[in-house]
Amino acid sequence: MAKIKKIVKSIKIDADKCNGCRACEVACAGFHATPKYSICNPARARIKVVTYRRKDIWFPVFAGEYTPAGCVGRDSYIIDGKEYADCDLCRASCPTRDRFKEPDSGLPLRCDMCESDPPLPEPMCVSICINNVLTYVEKEEEVEEEENVSDMEIGLRALANTHGMDKLLETVARMIEKD
Ligand code: SF4
Ligand code: SF4
Repeated sequence: MAKIKKIVKSIKIDADKCNGCRACEVACAGFHATPKYSICNPARARIKVVTYRRKDIWFPVFAGEYTPAGCVGRDSYIIDGKEYADCDLCRASCPTRDRFKEPDSGLPLRCDMCESDPPLPEPMCVSICINNVLTYVEKEEEVEEEENVSDMEIGLRALANTHGMDKLLETVARMIEKD
């Protein structure tokens, strides 16, 4: 694949500063609602704050890529003496858990860095976090050119994986007929 120069956007996470307030989840859900801010259900957020109050664990995880297959094994991590459960650090939307899935449809959710027109100065979750846990970083890098896959295509792939491509096409054809 060809290499191209690209502005790579990322968010640095200083998890030690997180107090689990979950304002980032609410802001993300509201920004991505249609119409914008009409609903702020954290279950629709593309960021999830993992919290174990008794273990003093709070840290945000961003929704990454959709994967049609769940892991066959599980990893666990001990960091600074705190043990993190199987899937805590995983960013995938996968078939084996509910995290990073739209609660009504089950369609995968993915952090899109709050891409919008006009663009925001920084993503919503970064702006709302008063504890400075999240820092927005932009830098130019040489990266491999990748296919630009839209949320709609990811959603359709997920539906095809769940129900089968024939059923999906049959349903779309029926909808077209009704319109
Ligand atoms: S808004 Fe900041 S402090 Fe609150 S849960 Fe999110 S990352 Fe943590
Ligand atoms: S960058 Fe935007 S889309 Fe990603 S988690 Fe933060 S608010 Fe949500």
